[in-house]
Amino acid sequence: MTKRAYNFNAGPAALPLEVLQQAQQEFVDFKGIGMSIMEISHRSKEYEQVNGETQQLLLELLGLPSGYKVLFLQGGASTQFAMIPMNLLTADKVGAYVMTGSWAEKAYQEAQLFGETFLAASSNESGPLNIPALSDIRVPDNAAYLHVTSNETIAGTQFHEFPDTGSVPLIGDMSSDILSRSFDASKFAMIYAGAQKNLGPSGVTVVVAREDFLKDSPKHVPTMLRYSTHIKNDSLYNTPPAYSVYIVNLVLKWIKANGGLSVMEQRNIEKTALVYDTIDNSGGFYEGLATKDSRSIMNITFKLQSEELEKAFIKESEANGFVGLKGHRSVGHLRASTYNAVPYESCKALADFMADFQKRNG
Ligand code: PMP
Repeated sequence: MTKRAYNFNAGPAALPLEVLQQAQQEFVDFKGIGMSIMEISHRSKEYEQVNGETQQLLLELLGLPSGYKVLFLQGGASTQFAMIPMNLLTADKVGAYVMTGSWAEKAYQEAQLFGETFLAASSNESGPLNIPALSDIRVPDNAAYLHVTSNETIAGTQFHEFPDTGSVPLIGDMSSDILSRSFDASKFAMIYAGAQKNLGPSGVTVVVAREDFLKDSPKHVPTMLRYSTHIKNDSLYNTPPAYSVYIVNLVLKWIKANGGLSVMEQRNIEKTALVYDTIDNSGGFYEGLATKDSRSIMNITFKLQSEELEKAFIKESEANGFVGLKGHRSVGHLRASTYNAVPYESCKALADFMADFQKRNG
């Protein structure tokens, strides 16, 4: 049996063991061709099969109707922050953004380089971190789109419902919670995600969008940064990040074999409840950073009552096989990232460790 760490890394993050094992098996000889998937042309029938199947699986898992396309791009989700306004923000329109934390802020700042922006709603300025109420989100008629960050990886907050935007296209940065729960993906004109949390390794960014939304990019946009280039070429305009896409393919098959999004959701709720309950039942020893109604089932952020205690917590957790519990450098404190591939057993072990740590230090 392979000894695996209790991996709570925020990203790159845990991948399913079965996926790693299959990749290992196929590493030097992909499906009997005598070469690895990294050593063949992206124009080969073997790679075209991986590309097409991965696109299909993603649409199927998201339950999307026809008319949606899947692209495998490079440059991380951060490049999407720029590609969105470059391609979609025209002179008479505004890009509307819901400000929920650091990632939303980055997307919003980037859009300001290209055109007019509009702040549709914001989280609380102070106090526990939250997601604004849907009723507080204002979408102007001349919005080219409304952009939301479905899960704020650093804050540990998550939208539990998405706004109805009428005729204004809804765009979601789902980098840290794509495929973690069931939701009505058809509400979105576009979803994007860096793969390195819930989908696979870094190196590929997945864009899922209505074809009609992305097919007409302005001519002044450089070829590689035009969505239309990638739409027209079925995401094979230039050499794609083939190995990353291949691992995404295996991860999607793993999600499907395990019951799809509703099973992922159930598991994620159950395993994060172990940790959230430990926080809530600690009599204030542990404190969640997010308001209860905005808590994420992907990133649990919490603190202890002093920096010394937090340092001791990290040190002891590492000695006990836990990895990645330090909060993001911008907010400090503690964070456990519990993506799809993080098993229930890891969360159970963390909850037990937290209870024991409290007994010894409370
Ligand atoms: N959006 C969110 C919500 C993220 O969590 C991250 C990465 N942590 C990004 C965007 C940026 O992704 P990338 O590193 O792939 O550019």
